[in-house]
Amino acid sequence: MKRYWILAKKDEISLSIEQVIDNALSKHLSKDELHPDLLITVGGDGTMLRAVQLYLEQLETVHFVGIHTGTLGFYTDYEANEVEQLIQDILYEEYTINKMNMVEVNYQRNQANYRHYGLNEARIENIYSTLVCDIKIDNEFLETFRGNGLCISSTSGSTAYNRSLGGSVITPNIPIIQLSEIAGIHHNAYRSLQSSLILDQQHTIYCELKAINKPVLGVDQLIFDIDGVKQLEFKLSKRYVQFIHYRSISFFDRIRKAFING
Ligand code: NAD
Repeated sequence: MKRYWILAKKDEISLSIEQVIDNALSKHLSKDELHPDLLITVGGDGTMLRAVQLYLEQLETVHFVGIHTGTLGFYTDYEANEVEQLIQDILYEEYTINKMNMVEVNYQRNQANYRHYGLNEARIENIYSTLVCDIKIDNEFLETFRGNGLCISSTSGSTAYNRSLGGSVITPNIPIIQLSEIAGIHHNAYRSLQSSLILDQQHTIYCELKAINKPVLGVDQLIFDIDGVKQLEFKLSKRYVQFIHYRSISFFDRIRKAFING
């Protein structure tokens, strides 16, 4: 890696770590905000999600590594007290690259076509009134869903919002998308699957919105107005995010530390 850029959360600790990394790396590598090949984030998973969206058009050439200023994150391999190790690794260590698939969402609004990519997930949400939508898998009708919303997550997003919804945690590198309900309504008049549905990469999920009352589309940390949109299409994207690993951290270690006994 020859050209780096650092994206830090705007808190005191993250900014001071950014300074330490910058002082060390600028002596050996060039600093390039527009076309970095190494993007270092200092903050949390949210900072990494923001970095990915900022460099969305350059995912083929940018490689991401993160240092977490809280605890160990899902997209960050280093903790705040490991900043010297991170610098040494960047300058001198061999690395591996892990490509993580994204979720893609397509829709039309006011005669314009929109496409977004989420590293974690894309969500249709409606906090004002019940979301009603017909769900088709490819050309086949599955169900009419009623509830607060739907979350379509990637493999790496399975440990994020998807997990809070009771969706399954998926081990890395399995090319799937997972559809989970957000507070589905289930009683003798209305019924939907009520469990998360895991689909392989050949499938596309179509959501045809029936009751249209200010729904929004969430894509990772971004929110889009989809008022007036009739149908959204969700699928596993061919785009991926390249994470660079100078050391190997077990997935099971991450989930145990994050969710079981930190
Ligand atoms: P943020 O940075 O505060 O992140 C929210 C939380 O989600 C943090 O604890 C973060 O570590 C965790 N997180 C993010 N990606 C993760 C992943 N892949 N695996 C495990 N945990 C992960 O907030 P933000 O910047 O708005 O981040 C947006 C993300 O927050 C969304 O993509 C969504 O997945 C997540 N989120 C989760 C919930 C929930 O679990 N109820 C609600 C809203 C948003």
